[in-house]
Amino acid sequence: PPLATAGPIFRTTMTQPLTVPPGQKIRLADFDPRYCGEWTKAQAEPEIEKHVSALSELTYRLYAEDRRSLLIVLQGIDTAGKDGTIRTVMRGVNPQVCRVTSFKQPSAEELDHDFLWRIHKAVPGRGEVGIFNRSHYEDVIVVRVHELVPEKIWKRRYDVINVFEEMLVESGTTILKFFLHISREEQKERLMARLADPTKRWKFSKNDLLERKRWDEYDRAFDDALTYCNTEAAPWHIVPADRKWYRNLAISRTIHEALAKIDPQFPPAEEGLEEVLID
Ligand code: AMP
Ligand code: MG
Repeated sequence: PPLATAGPIFRTTMTQPLTVPPGQKIRLADFDPRYCGEWTKAQAEPEIEKHVSALSELTYRLYAEDRRSLLIVLQGIDTAGKDGTIRTVMRGVNPQVCRVTSFKQPSAEELDHDFLWRIHKAVPGRGEVGIFNRSHYEDVIVVRVHELVPEKIWKRRYDVINVFEEMLVESGTTILKFFLHISREEQKERLMARLADPTKRWKFSKNDLLERKRWDEYDRAFDDALTYCNTEAAPWHIVPADRKWYRNLAISRTIHEALAKIDPQFPPAEEGLEEVLID
């Protein structure tokens, strides 16, 4: 069925929507991870450059304004491109303005608390951009696939997450959630590339192969997280990510649109600056 289209501002030729109206069942199988509309890499590259420099300017304003924040959540299976997205799309952002948090297996101290404890500590303050490389969604994805907590517990977490995110939004945070969607074939290519390249081999873990065996279970966990946590306040973006350039285009454009909508303003200067003399 035709679905609602993504943001109108920079919309050109994309027809596979990035977003789905809340309440609709999301099945990744309905989405093409190789989708790239009518774009070519050569057309996309200058466009990505434009968005990257717009992000530089708009995040500078967000920081100066010091009232609102932006939280970018990146989820996706191993090799989906979470690190590459941060490296490419956010490269123009002043490190003073943004903070990246990579969520790994919880520490003993983190496990001693509720699952949102470590997440809440990492959310961006006013004037800040927060980037989550993995997130609280691990607590309904990997935790479910590996049965780390009983179903009764993780099932409740969708509602808890929705209320938590809504609270952040009401407190002045814009939340952009990106699911980086790659195909099983593309993951194979990327894992092989990691093995073959001595500068990438450090990223390879035999554990990734065990996770890969659970592809279908992960897909079911993703489908449910995308479906149940796709809210008005914080909708999911399902990013076709087999082509890195298209992924970068879709994400940089979405962040640009969101910041343009926030439209952060420089605070007014002190009064009487016209008469100031500096000797
Ligand atoms: P990487 O992103 O490759 O550095 O790997 C981080 C690992 O930590 C992944 O295998 C995640 O699934 C795992 N991880 C992150 N958050 C959690 C969590 N809440 N519970 C269990 N494992 C987690
Ligand atoms: Mg890894």
